Amino acid sequence: MSEGPRHSCGVVGMMADTDVVSYIHKALNLIQHRGQESAGIAVFENGMHTVKDNGLVGAALSPRKIEGLTGKVGIGHVRYSTAGSKSVVNAQPLTVEYNNGSISVAHNGELTNYKELKSKYMDKGWSFFADSDTEIVARLLVKNMRTNDDPVKAIRAMMTEVDGAYSLCIMFNDRLFAVRDPYGFRPLVLGEFDDGFMAVSETAALIPLGGRPIRDVMPGEIVEIFSHSYKSYPASGQCPKAHCMFEWVYFARPDSVIDGREVYDVRKRIGMILAEEAPADVDVVMPIPDSGRAHALGFSMASGIPYEEGFMKNRFVDRTFILPTQKLREQAVDMKMNPIKSTVEGRRILIVDDSIVRGTTLRKLIKVLRNAGAKEVHVRVGSPPIIAPCFYGVDMKTRDEFIATKYNVEEIRGILNADSLAYISIEGLVRALDIPETDLCLACVNGKYPTNIPGERHRYQATLKQDFS
Ligand code: 5GP
Ligand code: MG
Repeated sequence: MSEGPRHSCGVVGMMADTDVVSYIHKALNLIQHRGQESAGIAVFENGMHTVKDNGLVGAALSPRKIEGLTGKVGIGHVRYSTAGSKSVVNAQPLTVEYNNGSISVAHNGELTNYKELKSKYMDKGWSFFADSDTEIVARLLVKNMRTNDDPVKAIRAMMTEVDGAYSLCIMFNDRLFAVRDPYGFRPLVLGEFDDGFMAVSETAALIPLGGRPIRDVMPGEIVEIFSHSYKSYPASGQCPKAHCMFEWVYFARPDSVIDGREVYDVRKRIGMILAEEAPADVDVVMPIPDSGRAHALGFSMASGIPYEEGFMKNRFVDRTFILPTQKLREQAVDMKMNPIKSTVEGRRILIVDDSIVRGTTLRKLIKVLRNAGAKEVHVRVGSPPIIAPCFYGVDMKTRDEFIATKYNVEEIRGILNADSLAYISIEGLVRALDIPETDLCLACVNGKYPTNIPGERHRYQATLKQDFS
């Protein structure tokens, strides 16, 4: 089944004096949360060698599969996508041939004009082998290398054609580049090692490997990476920054620092602001693990209400969010969370989660808490209501699925069977992030898109204050 370019992923690229395969393999492990569907590594040594497969890093890149794979420059990828896609055709890195060797691309994000570009080039006689926006990136690079044999110029020319979200690691034979789109939707950071240099999606991958974070790749910047240094080609003009707020709210690891803001710290502040905006008279604050933990802790710290764990999470259950039917998703939530009786029984509980998308998780879990003897169940949510699809790489695609497009907050409270429900406000979220609103992408909560999307509103157009509710 073809499933289009839907992916929020993790990327890494490294050049070193020593073999980079084990570094890249470990880095992919450390960013596994960014993608569990497939994993891959490409290294250049006497030609480009690419190993990729479906599954987690440990399985897709098992010792047997990467046996003999060595090189001093390479890139890696973990891929996250929607249910139903089993095809390994879309796994990355994507390696293609050009007039002077091989180009390999690892991509996090999603191009918004990929369909237009694809049909434009099909009209010119190109054929495509995958339904993937990353293939467009690779093919444009091949085309551009034919006219000028300079990777930086080829990347720049590609960047003038594509629109949307892309954090990329690219190899032109043994030359390695890290590239971030002019909006800086997805993270990408540089790190230094005693024997090499790395670009990777999140800082959390650097320190455990002995690396030191240097800085973020800037929006619109191209960085060439060498084994002991890097060279920056910054964007020429002002970039329309639009960092995805969901990276901090849900997607990234709490121990990562993105664009100067630690994810854990932002989540904790979200919880603190929620406690200000929507206080509650309860006995205990409880997270929905794992994603709601730091938010709940912040709520507890600001309110003085004790924090306790009330759910034990089974880590070995399928990812509930992407299962294809509602029934399967609900069964999986049941399997995944078991209540801890002493936290729950006879008590007024406030649960905190990072987000409500369809409402599946909370509806089920509130039932579980009530069955376990909770006296009251109040809900606080670390992101404003999700009302608009993401076209930039987070798997939230159809308006119909969002509970907040159909119901108002009071109706959602009723559907969830909660005693009270409050979401953080957009202003509260921006305050927690401590990043100017104009530098953020808030499209999924305000419907205003940083790039042109046919049929959707652009964020720079004057709009009503509150949207779609
Ligand atoms: P819901 O159950 O309301 O449909 O989704 C919200 C829950 O799913 C939250 O617990 C949140 O942590 C998680 N979640 C939110 N967005 C995503 C996503 O894009 N992918 C996955 N796997 N989980 C998500
Ligand atoms: Mg969650």
